[in-house]
Amino acid sequence: MKTRMIFTAAFMMCVAVLVGQTRVVAHRGYWKTEGSAQNSITALMKADQVRAWGSELDILQTADGVLVVNHDATVGPDKILIEAANYADIKDIKLPNGETLPTLKDYMKAFKKECRHTLLILEIKQHTTDEKMIKASRAVVDMVKKMKIKDRVEYISFMPVICDEVLKCDPKAKVAYLSNRMTPAQCKQRGYTGVDFHFSQFQARPHWVKECHDLGLEVNVWTVNSDAVIRQMIELGVDIITTDVPERVAELIKEHEAKK
Ligand code: MG
Repeated sequence: MKTRMIFTAAFMMCVAVLVGQTRVVAHRGYWKTEGSAQNSITALMKADQVRAWGSELDILQTADGVLVVNHDATVGPDKILIEAANYADIKDIKLPNGETLPTLKDYMKAFKKECRHTLLILEIKQHTTDEKMIKASRAVVDMVKKMKIKDRVEYISFMPVICDEVLKCDPKAKVAYLSNRMTPAQCKQRGYTGVDFHFSQFQARPHWVKECHDLGLEVNVWTVNSDAVIRQMIELGVDIITTDVPERVAELIKEHEAKK
């Protein structure tokens, strides 16, 4: 009888973790710490060290087909447009923490070798033509397959053409749409597995959380950094919070769970 009760309690705890608890994604890695920088490999390692559920990064492709990790379309003091440059033209550019601009390949190699906790949340960025975005999406999915990390990545994008192409290349991929130009129902219709909207969308339409869940979509919100909004999003029952302050979000989730 006692064993059965212990087993039931343990099972219920697992269910609570799997179903209820909000998860944390470090936005561009955990960069607000000593020695880190946005989209650096260090930021990925720091996200893993604090056991963020996911670590987000931004991806662009050079004219000669190299995938690099960077947020803006341009890079470096001369603001070189990545999609128009050859990799040789940008390969020595330094990030603010002294690291060299990472290629996606190096980033994934470091992830595979060092990270034990976090997932990679791959944001494929807008390029100037659909053709370039399709090419970049194919290259990213292909690299994920070659690195054998399919079950440790998810995809996000503001561009439907990118989300669609990722799903074409890997129909089992987890893909969330970042813009509010589509409703949850439209995202579901296109085969996406989640939405990843700015938190203001859910402040204006809190019923969307339930609507997403009823559709089987996961709800991620960005970029939530203030205690008040973090608490509000946890209360709303979003699945994932993307943030620049992953340790603070984890603390507030713990506080919320303790009150249950
Ligand atoms: Mg991003």
